[in-house]
Amino acid sequence: MPIVINSPRDGDTLACGHVLVTPEATKRLGFGGTGYAILPDESCICYDCAHARDVEALRTAEHWVAYLSADGKQIHDWPGYALMTVTRSWETESRVFGRLSHTTWIRAVDTHGAEWHGRGPGRGMYVRLTRKGLKRGGR
Ligand SMILES: [Zn+2]
Repeated sequence: MPIVINSPRDGDTLACGHVLVTPEATKRLGFGGTGYAILPDESCICYDCAHARDVEALRTAEHWVAYLSADGKQIHDWPGYALMTVTRSWETESRVFGRLSHTTWIRAVDTHGAEWHGRGPGRGMYVRLTRKGLKRGGR
């Protein structure tokens, strides 16, 4: 009998069919929460399945939002799995209305071998990425 889980706990069966086990990723990263991801339809799936979906979606995606690892070497998804390896990064700073603003620029290669470029506020923060070769303003 299917059960609607509002707040899954360790040992609960998730929508993907796996049993929730709080992953190491939470401790390792210091964020990411409780070991499950919530889909747009509000069902909960485990981090492994969330990552598998990410990897599959990444194959055809043109834009992607993920996280720059604390060491700045990888781009990972919310569950904390690496999706891309950073090949080059550099920082710039500029004044925006008198306030110093830092931007980290990223070049990365994803698990499928495709190249991406993007930027974000820094390590441990989000990065907005665009597939290389995509035309500006294009689809
Ligand atoms: Zn699962």
